[in-house]
Amino acid sequence: MQKTELLTDFSVITPSAQITREQHGWRAKCLQRLIRLELPVPETVALPAYVVRAIASGQMVDCRAILAHFGADPLISVRPSPENPDWGGPATILNIGFNMARHDRLAQRHGQAAADALYLRFVQGYAVHVARLDPDMFEGVEPSAQALRDALRTYQIEMDEPFPEDPARQLADVLRSMARAWEGTTARLLRQAKGAPAEAGLGLVVQQMAQGIGQGISGSGVIQFVDPVTGDAQVKGRYLGQSQGRDALTRGEAIYLTRDKRGPSLEELAPDLFADLLRHGEVCRRRLREEMQIEFTIEDGQLSVLDAVKVQRSARAGLKIAVALAKDGVISPSEAVLRVEPRALSELLHPQVDPRGPRDVFARGIAASPGAATGRIVFSSQAAQASAARGEPCILVRRETAPEDIRGMHSAVAVLTERGGMTSHAAVIGRGLGLPCIVGASDIRLDTRDKRLTAKDGREFREGDVITIDGTTGEALVGAAEMLAPAQDDAFRQLLAWADDLRDIGIRANADTPSDAQTARDFGAQGIGLCRTEHMFFDEDRLVAMREMIFADTPKDRAAALARLLPMQRADFGQLFEIMKGLPVCIRLFDPPLHEFLPHSREGLRELAEALDRPLSEVTRRAEALSEFNPMLGMRGVRLGVVLPEIYDMQARAIFEATVETVRAGEPVVPEIMIPLVSARREVELVKTRIDAVAAAVRTKTGVSFDYRLGVMVETPRAALRAGEIAQHAAFLSFGTNDLTQMTYGLSRDDAGRFMNTYVQEGVFPEDPFHILDVDGVGELLLIGAERGRRTRANLTLSICGEHGGNPESIAFCRRAGFDYVSCSPYRVPQARLAAAHLAL
Ligand code: PEP
Ligand code: MG
Repeated sequence: MQKTELLTDFSVITPSAQITREQHGWRAKCLQRLIRLELPVPETVALPAYVVRAIASGQMVDCRAILAHFGADPLISVRPSPENPDWGGPATILNIGFNMARHDRLAQRHGQAAADALYLRFVQGYAVHVARLDPDMFEGVEPSAQALRDALRTYQIEMDEPFPEDPARQLADVLRSMARAWEGTTARLLRQAKGAPAEAGLGLVVQQMAQGIGQGISGSGVIQFVDPVTGDAQVKGRYLGQSQGRDALTRGEAIYLTRDKRGPSLEELAPDLFADLLRHGEVCRRRLREEMQIEFTIEDGQLSVLDAVKVQRSARAGLKIAVALAKDGVISPSEAVLRVEPRALSELLHPQVDPRGPRDVFARGIAASPGAATGRIVFSSQAAQASAARGEPCILVRRETAPEDIRGMHSAVAVLTERGGMTSHAAVIGRGLGLPCIVGASDIRLDTRDKRLTAKDGREFREGDVITIDGTTGEALVGAAEMLAPAQDDAFRQLLAWADDLRDIGIRANADTPSDAQTARDFGAQGIGLCRTEHMFFDEDRLVAMREMIFADTPKDRAAALARLLPMQRADFGQLFEIMKGLPVCIRLFDPPLHEFLPHSREGLRELAEALDRPLSEVTRRAEALSEFNPMLGMRGVRLGVVLPEIYDMQARAIFEATVETVRAGEPVVPEIMIPLVSARREVELVKTRIDAVAAAVRTKTGVSFDYRLGVMVETPRAALRAGEIAQHAAFLSFGTNDLTQMTYGLSRDDAGRFMNTYVQEGVFPEDPFHILDVDGVGELLLIGAERGRRTRANLTLSICGEHGGNPESIAFCRRAGFDYVSCSPYRVPQARLAAAHLAL
């Protein structure tokens, strides 16, 4: 095709025109749907993406042929229509076709002032967005005849030609500038950040202007039928007489739509038109199967629907809308389930700061992502990752965040930035991740090199200091604030109930304490998949008994210390069984190296020596003897169980005695006992023999019969490879992918944060394997273990309980591999339930 030849590939949108979302974009497709629903949409022409691309590279469409569709005296708008509305696009340009002749006619009909204002606005918009002149020269002037003359003169001086009067020339310029804006680097990067493919094209929509200016009722507005924050059914929007475009949303004089004590409303002004809008809204909802925001214009009492877009909504509203549509029979329950992004649920789940508690506010900013979290301050993404690897919640404090901070944000429980607004990187990503987030806290001063944050009142905070971020109010608080559990409403429960009907993989929770267990139950976990019992030993009274046990010289002394721990553990397990009400509870036997329970400072050692009534030198010597070069690969897990079997004996007894008490109370329970860090069959044999003996002893002593299931945690590559023989003694295998990842890569889970950024940036790893399961390597071990284990024992229960358990990607992997369940932290259970349902659909 020659460059000079004009393109003619455009379509008038009619009910039967060939309009596709891929070619003409979502807006063109949506307008066609509105036309099919017989809504009063003005004449509209759609340009496909390939034509727009050709325009960007120098060709032009036949503008006179387009204008011919709009009558003798065309006045039109051009709107962007990418395939996906989230990909943005250049701003809409209104009033193309405006010129001095139209100005004069308008002045006669509607007065000089209205004509001057409209024309000035067009010239301003054209100069800035189409001719790309400096906005300072055009914006911020009050409309008047003089201002219009000045604008036309400035245009002429800057462009070396008069302001174009010919509508075809105007249209060509507008199309060219919009086509080129789409190809610009910034626009490209922005849309790619929102998931647009590199080759994403832009369709354009040319539409007859409905002016919103006239003698009779005239104006423009927007209307929607739900609250965008709560999702409750409610008419929302604004109307402004003698206006056009989105004026009603930006100008203070706009009036309400429905009757309102605070002022006049469209409902009172034009009840019939208002009723028409309600009817159009209902038609859209039923037939487009979505809550839409309708942009409308009234010209001399004549209503036009210019556009309809999906109502922008919070995660909470999105869920409520989906459930309401399904309950009204507009969509099916499974479609409602599919419409809610699993990761979006986290925003609904986060705790809130208890308004009744004390609030020591040290900074205020924009409440960019709701929920609240407490953690230690970190000033870099690396520090955030290191903190997460240590299992310490942290709050990422930055001047502003950039794409390379994404890993740090993943690792943080909340984010605070000095700069930015609702759509800055931190805000957008924070909302996406469900992370409480405050941006634009401009009253703080940050010194990242010195790792210091200074509040307005002069208070200083350092890395490691504990603060609370209230992303709902935009306030940062000193210390750990009192929290309220998140509210779950009926819509939330309904959606997850539908999800449960659809999914085909179980979801359990990792819960160590009664409060974790309660959260897990509240969030619909089908049991506890991992109870890390060592977390029960850090309370003051238990720590003393633990230390006595560690320092015991003889098995008898050790037994005495363990006897003190026994009732405490029994009570722990009893509570878990009670809370879980018959759901399975999988208890992992003691896992960490013993020295984790010893003091690390001299002062601490002295106190311990006093408490144990032993010489400091002896205590110090014992502590040193326990220290290991590589404790995570040392005397921990089942190795402790083999070398100091009394610990596991005590735990098994506590579990069985709690089982007996629960059974006696009328609640059936079959505890699951899991052995950590196994690498050889013989380890399992040794532990199993002793636990069976403890079970027999408890049965004999109490006269109560009960069952239990013994399983193995697969955390070493060897256990996965030898799963066939290990399964001879195990009713279930649970893959601990944290340690398994560590050992498969030979990569310390506590230190990897230091270089993970570089590794991911350099493409060594596609993702941090401690966050996203490495399906190629670690995943292969999972598949080998599962296959070999099931060959030995067909009914072997298989699961995953590492941190990966709640990720939709890992759930997909486990489901494909035929696992029975995944276990994840309680707060991720709803997301996992929903993600699992998505996979089954
Ligand atoms: C694991 O290793 O995956 C696991 C769940 O255990 P922990 O994180 O307690 O080592
Ligand atoms: Mg582990």
